[in-house]
Amino acid sequence: MPSSGNYQKELAKKQQRVESLLEGLVSSIEPIIGADDPYHYRNKVHAAVGVQKGRIIAGTYEPGTHRIIEGGGNELENESAAEVIRDIVSIANRYHMSVYNEKTGQGLLRRILVRTADGTGQMLVVLVLGDYMFPGKKNFVKTLIGKHPEITSIVLNINRRTDSMILGDKSETVYGPGFIVDTLLGKKFSISAESFYQVNRAQAQKLYSKAIEYASLSKSDLVLDAYCGTGTIGICMSDHCRSVTGVELNPKAVSDAGHNIRKNNATNVKVVKADATKYMNENAASGMFDVVVLDPPREGTTPEFIKACAKISPSRIVYVSCNPDTLARDLKLFAGEGYKAVKACPVDMFSGTEHVETVCLLSK
Ligand code: SAH
Repeated sequence: MPSSGNYQKELAKKQQRVESLLEGLVSSIEPIIGADDPYHYRNKVHAAVGVQKGRIIAGTYEPGTHRIIEGGGNELENESAAEVIRDIVSIANRYHMSVYNEKTGQGLLRRILVRTADGTGQMLVVLVLGDYMFPGKKNFVKTLIGKHPEITSIVLNINRRTDSMILGDKSETVYGPGFIVDTLLGKKFSISAESFYQVNRAQAQKLYSKAIEYASLSKSDLVLDAYCGTGTIGICMSDHCRSVTGVELNPKAVSDAGHNIRKNNATNVKVVKADATKYMNENAASGMFDVVVLDPPREGTTPEFIKACAKISPSRIVYVSCNPDTLARDLKLFAGEGYKAVKACPVDMFSGTEHVETVCLLSK
């Protein structure tokens, strides 16, 4: 956990890590963009529910075990979400609610997931249940809303799985629309129980602003947003360019992206469901993008993607990376294809952890 003096040390360490990994690969590295508040940024808070000494408790699993540590006391989590979880537990105790038992597969309340939209103040509560039958459901919802009117939606998710997945496939909305809406750089994004969404909104806005700055877009630019998730980067860029094509493999993210495009009336954005490398290969001869943005998972991108990208021959490439090791590896391959990394900027998206995000601009 960061304490304020330690936070400066944490930032310095992250800066140094990025600098040493990218040494010789990038012409200049800007100072890391730190968080104004390194605590309580996580807008997605999850707790496992169990029974201890006859009382219902919620918290995180002790690492490597299935023993729940009550509360968890996580300094990185949104405080209102943590408070809602505590109150759900006390209502569950008052109603003597049935709790799911991992050994027998019987019982009801399994987990609690709370998502907050810090830009709009909306809050989504997901109660993960081991059974469809929830006696006293109406009263439970009424009591919870009475205590926390800031909750804008409640969803019951049925999870009978025996693996460690938090959510099952079936959901029922029992209050509100079943999702919340947040804003990033003035654009609106829907967040449901399952949607992928950046967990640190304040820093995500700084990251996207840096990516937009590096892209130095003009109204005639055709932009490719590879590994686009729910379309957030592309939609935030869409006012500054002619069009954006997003490419994303996960079908749920693609359908969320479609929803977000409509919500923002971003008529110059479309999202294609495809493997990013396959898409690049199929379009390698077309040369139809001025700017390529890529934001791959921790494994980075592929050598084939990089080769095909060079054939498309964009004038700028903006690489948003959540892993400086794979970024360094990929920058070497880009250099081999004639793309030089001009500048890079680390962004602290996950204070209190080892992770560091980096935005990098490459040009021919
Ligand atoms: N740019 C988005 C999401 C980045 S996370 C944002 O800022 O929110 C990386 C995304 O890459 C995930 O949505 C994941 O589903 C997607 N992905 C992973 N492998 C992929 C592949 N081979 N082709 C296309 N997308 C892929």
